[in-house]
Amino acid sequence: LTQDSPIFVTGGAGFIGSHFVLDWFAEIGTPLVNLDKLTYAGNLRNLQPIADRSGYHFVRGDIQDRTLVDRLLKEFEPRAIVHLAAESHVDRSLMGPEDFLNTNVHGTFTLLEAARAYYDKLDVEDRTKFRFLHVSTDEVYGSLKSGDAPFEETFPFRPNSPYAASKAASDMLVRAWVKSYGLPAVVTNCSNNYGPLQFPEKLLPLVLNRAIHGEPLPIYGDGMQVRDWLYVGDHAAALRVALEKGVPGQTYNIGGWNEQANIDTVKILCALLDEFLPDSPHRPHAQLMKFVTDRPGHDRRYAINATKAERELGWRPKETFATGLRKTVRWYLDNQTWVEEVTSGAYRDWMETNYGAR
Ligand code: NAD
Repeated sequence: LTQDSPIFVTGGAGFIGSHFVLDWFAEIGTPLVNLDKLTYAGNLRNLQPIADRSGYHFVRGDIQDRTLVDRLLKEFEPRAIVHLAAESHVDRSLMGPEDFLNTNVHGTFTLLEAARAYYDKLDVEDRTKFRFLHVSTDEVYGSLKSGDAPFEETFPFRPNSPYAASKAASDMLVRAWVKSYGLPAVVTNCSNNYGPLQFPEKLLPLVLNRAIHGEPLPIYGDGMQVRDWLYVGDHAAALRVALEKGVPGQTYNIGGWNEQANIDTVKILCALLDEFLPDSPHRPHAQLMKFVTDRPGHDRRYAINATKAERELGWRPKETFATGLRKTVRWYLDNQTWVEEVTSGAYRDWMETNYGAR
């Protein structure tokens, strides 16, 4: 294995995955294989800027397909696996947890087993170079009360949603594969991401999309749930650095030191829309806010202590919430066709035509 050997990415057509892949070709440019099932959340259009780059390979498939994963590892001989593929939406996990167990737990297990078999066949020198980077969430740590110290890597897992439980299970499998089999894996647990290309079921694009069309903006419960936001480009950069500098067996919390109550986030978005859309009939957009029944088991507060990543990886976020949100709102306003495509089914039709039925 060399620094020019490919990296093997899962879930590279998703929100964070596509930012990771774009960042990779902008900053590193060595070959990259992207294995993605293209669920509703996977969108190949996000990757159009690099789709024809030499060294980029897309494979449509499921991480639970051991035969396929084995074949790809054998064919491409990657120096690393960067595992982002997941079912990622908490509300969907409440309505139908099974897909979350299948992809997040069984899928991660399948990948770990394939990685172990691949790793075991490497020679001693190559083993020192190989890495498995497992991308996870701060939701595994559960919920904080106001005044509690932010999550540190040593905090116990206390997941509250089926999504968080499935991710916690996958993190624990990775830990066990490090301890039991010596697989050189690094885990990152990141706070809530926002930015361009996010599927409009998540809070920020959902609010923007509805506000632009003058539709009510649902605020769960009292809106005082606190989230710690990180611009997605900063997360992509953190993963790139964690892959190069992360120590096998270690976990790194990734976050932007940016706690916000949901209701305040929505108010900031509305104010930005007021500014960017001076002629909108829906101004002031904040009048569209509507309180709705809270999500069951809704975590009250997440906050990340990212000191270890900053100290040991030398990573720091570039965007503040103010700069990142301006970029994000601008992007959604300038890319309304993208939003319409992913919400209207036109994108799905395009995908079926190009890649066949799911
Ligand atoms: P996403 O839902 O936007 O994308 C997930 C991608 O995985 C999609 O492209 C989908 O097609 C693919 N996928 C799903 N099941 C698959 C399977 N069985 N086989 C192959 N591909 C499959 O998710 P995201 O928001 O980009 O999150 C990526 C990763 O980062 C996840 O592991 C998530 O838990 C983690 N994470 C997300 C956030 C966040 O705020 N979005 C924060 C921290 C960590």
